[in-house]
Amino acid sequence: MAQILDGKWVRDEILKEWKPRVQAMTAQLRQPGLAVILVGNDPASEIYVRNKERACAEMGIYSEKYTPAADISTRELLALVESLNARVEIDGILIQTPLPSHIDTRQVLVAVRPDKDVDGFHPMNVGNLVANVPGPRACTPAGVIQLLKRYEIPIAGQHAVVIGRSDIVGKPMALMLLHENATVTICHSRTANLVTESRRADILVTAIGRPAMVTRDYIKPGATVIDVGMNRITDPAAASAIFGNHPARSLIGDAHPVDVMEASGAYTPVPGGVGPLTIAMLMVNTIRAAELHLGCSA
Ligand code: NAP
Repeated sequence: MAQILDGKWVRDEILKEWKPRVQAMTAQLRQPGLAVILVGNDPASEIYVRNKERACAEMGIYSEKYTPAADISTRELLALVESLNARVEIDGILIQTPLPSHIDTRQVLVAVRPDKDVDGFHPMNVGNLVANVPGPRACTPAGVIQLLKRYEIPIAGQHAVVIGRSDIVGKPMALMLLHENATVTICHSRTANLVTESRRADILVTAIGRPAMVTRDYIKPGATVIDVGMNRITDPAAASAIFGNHPARSLIGDAHPVDVMEASGAYTPVPGGVGPLTIAMLMVNTIRAAELHLGCSA
């Protein structure tokens, strides 16, 4: 039976290590501060933002939430970002995506000061990642690297295959694995022979957004499978068909939940795998930004 890679355990370890730094900073200077902007009423985004606020409270990070209506203009949103850029007690600014389609998302993300860009999405920070120099890193892939290291899964010299090439997961994931000296293949919707490519992976990362697409044929026996996908199945019959004799769930990853359990050597479950790591790394990025602003990096 494959080993389950427990993202909640890794999250707790990370937060436990970083909390004393928040306490020291707060005692000597001030709390780290995070501003979150949530535009409109997307229910999934509301849940993500609530979880981020909860994590800030647990860590002793000061947080502010802004909830402009869905019809806010790009110009108004830029003005809000500028006002947060100017505030000394705000170390990080997070703009929850996706933004409504009338908003120029790129212009808004680029407006965040790079030293307050706790999502690692600003082109300057993307450039830092490419060049492998320090700077805030995209939270989800940074969390995956933490998980692999803390479970002592070798990365150097291994063949890593990343399915997905988005700016927030696939591309930064591939670069981070490369910087850890893996040999990396990036796959996407136009990849020929996806199954063959995937099956060559010692470490297979799925960041696709297609429920249970990655069946046992994609998995080299014994490989480590990191399932970033988070897909909601609304039809109970469809969920039961996927899970067979196992108890069905509505939240499901890109990896087939039964096949990954039977074919991999180790895997991240959904939920409870990669999800908790994203928020942990957001906390780390916020604390690092505060240390930089306060001149107190450890
Ligand atoms: P995205 O922007 O939609 O990118 C999906 C990627 O998958 C694209 O590169 C796409 O290829 C590729 N793809 C789609 N269908 C494919 C197919 N049939 N075969 C091969 N490749 C295919 O999604 P994302 O933002 O990266 O997110 C991916 C998944 O991760 C989603 O389920 C999302 O909810 C989840 N996620 C989870 C967390 C977390 O904290 N756990 C964080 C972020 C995202 P093309 O580029 O060719 O279109």
